[in-house]
Formats: sequence, C-alpha cells, structure tokens
Amino acid sequence: MKKISIIIPAYNEEQPLRLLYDELVKTITLYPELRYEWEILFINDGSRDGTLSVIKDLREIDKRVCYVDLSRNFGKEAAMCAGFDYATGDCAIIMDADLQHPPQVMMEMLKFWEEGYEDVYGKRNTRGDESWLRKCLSKLYYRVLQKATRIEILENVGDFRLLDRKCIEALKQLRETERYTKGMYAWIGFRKKEIIFDTANRIAGKSSWTFYRLVHLAIDGITSYSTFPLRISTIIGTIVSVIAFIYLIFIFIKTIIYGDPIQGFPTLILTILFLGGIQLLSLGIIGEYLGKIFNESKNRPPYITREYKGSPAKSSHPDHQGIHE
Ligand code: UDP
Ligand code: MG
Repeated sequence: MKKISIIIPAYNEEQPLRLLYDELVKTITLYPELRYEWEILFINDGSRDGTLSVIKDLREIDKRVCYVDLSRNFGKEAAMCAGFDYATGDCAIIMDADLQHPPQVMMEMLKFWEEGYEDVYGKRNTRGDESWLRKCLSKLYYRVLQKATRIEILENVGDFRLLDRKCIEALKQLRETERYTKGMYAWIGFRKKEIIFDTANRIAGKSSWTFYRLVHLAIDGITSYSTFPLRISTIIGTIVSVIAFIYLIFIFIKTIIYGDPIQGFPTLILTILFLGGIQLLSLGIIGEYLGKIFNESKNRPPYITREYKGSPAKSSHPDHQGIHE
C-alpha cells in the first residue's frame, strides 16, 4: 500500500490543531476508495503554547500522528525542511495548521498524483481575510520577482502542495540555510499540476507573519534567486557617471569662456547628495548578498531536532537513532 505523509508545520497552533486533526481524519475516511497508509507529521516549530502537548495527546489515540519537535522557533521554511527530512511516505502533502488549506483538496491532489504528476500545487483563488494593503503589496511583489529572476515563481501559490518522493529527495539536497522554498519548488522542476482552491479564513489563533517578517521574506526571495539587484547598482552607477562626465565638460567650457565667480553651490550639493544616495544603495545591495554568503558559509543545519516520534520502520534520517519508540 502506498504511504502518504501529511506535513504540517505548527507554531503556536494549540487551538486549531484538534480541529485540523478531526477534519483530516474525516476527509481520509470519506474516500474509502483511496486506500492508503497515512502519516500525519507535525513539525512543532518551537511553539510557546500547548501545541506540543496537543500533538502528544493526538499521538496517544492515533499512532498515525508523528511529530518532530524542533529545539526552538526556526521559521516555517526550516520547519518544512524538517518535514521533508522526516517524512516517510511515497508522497508528501504540505499544509498549514490553521485550516486555511482545505483538506478536501488533498484528495484531488492525490488523484493527479496517481495520474503521474509529481508536484501538484494549490493556487489560491481568494486570499481569505487579508488586508487590502497586503493583497496589493503581494501582487506588486510577484511582478518584481518575476522580472528579476529567471525561474518562474508562481503568484498566489503557497506551500499547499503534494510532492512525489522524487521531489522530496531533490529538495532534501538543497541544504541552504537562507531558505526560500517557493523558489526551490520551481528550481527542482518535475511535472507540475495546478489546482485552484479557495482559501478559508484562519479558524483560530492569529497569523504569525508580521509585516516585518514579510518584508524579510520578500527580500530573501529576490536576493536568493537573482543577482539582478547587484546589476541595478552597476546600471545606475554607469548612467550617473556618464551624465556627470558630460556635465563636467560643459562646466569646464563654460568656465573658460565666461569665468565663474562663486556660483554653483546648489549643483554641488545636489550632486554630492545624489551620488551619496546611490553609493549607499549600492552598498546596501552588496551587503544583502554578503550577509547571505556569511550565513551560508557557517554551514549550519537549517534546524535542530529535540525529539522525533514516528514510524521507525521506514525512517532513514541519520538523527533518528535511539529516539523513537
Ligand atoms: N509557521 C511555522 N513557523 C513559524 C511561522 C509559521 O511553522 O515561525 C506555520 C504555522 O503554524 C502555519 C503555517 O506556518 O501552519 C502558516 O503560518 P500562518 O498561518 O501564520 O501564515 P499565513 O497563512 O498568514 O501566510
Ligand atoms: Mg495561515
């Protein structure tokens, strides 16, 4: 029998978890014609509330529930990486813990998987109860990202997707610490299929993405997959230098012909400020990439595991020794 892993990263999701579990079990039993072995793999991403004890309770009553407990909050990207490492299924479905990803869609994904697609992803039809500003910014962001990178990163496509074992093995090879998983899905390739779904509103708890975190993710997205920003400073720098040079010749000739008492103070200040700005911008851009190199060069693992409880039979992860039942 084929085994399906459901990977669920959870950070302070005490309230929605039980509901999610009930929904999942309901969906699984609703389709008796799809006979699979299931693994519900929770990644507890250093939650500060009772998320872990809820997961442990669920495991008491249902051994299909497995979990990885990370030693602190590493962020969703790292939590998903842990999910890929520990998932034992023939394919894995990643979904959010807050029921924004409707479990029924999972069954549709599985049908496409059976047809031979290797990466079936959900595309949001609506964006739930997000603010107008966030919707607009997200649209703008995808435009810029698309222009700047060579690989295709899809708009409104989140992390709700089914990945074949081949994709998981490919993703496991990408061990960068500065992770931007959305770009990785595009990068690994494979046969992809899109499914449109309606985002539900978050049922409980609140979104852990603050504006600050989203800005970070946006910058990471661009700088992880493109060196275009580095080129921007080269282009602007060249244009400014050419203009400055022409202006220099102009001033030189003008001074020779007409002479020049103390004039031109505004031009001077303007030039200094303008060039100063561009220099700072370029330094900032270089700094972004330098920071990435710095973090990457430390070569640290993307996450640290405190505990793993799962189905020991098939697990292949090197960290597993001695901790499972
Ligand atoms: N999440 C996580 N670690 C984090 C932040 C979020 O594992 O540091 C999980 C969270 O529990 C949820 C999913 O990532 O299952 C999506 O998070 P959220 O609903 O806050 O994001 P949004 O839906 O607003 O994009
Ligand atoms: Mg959410």
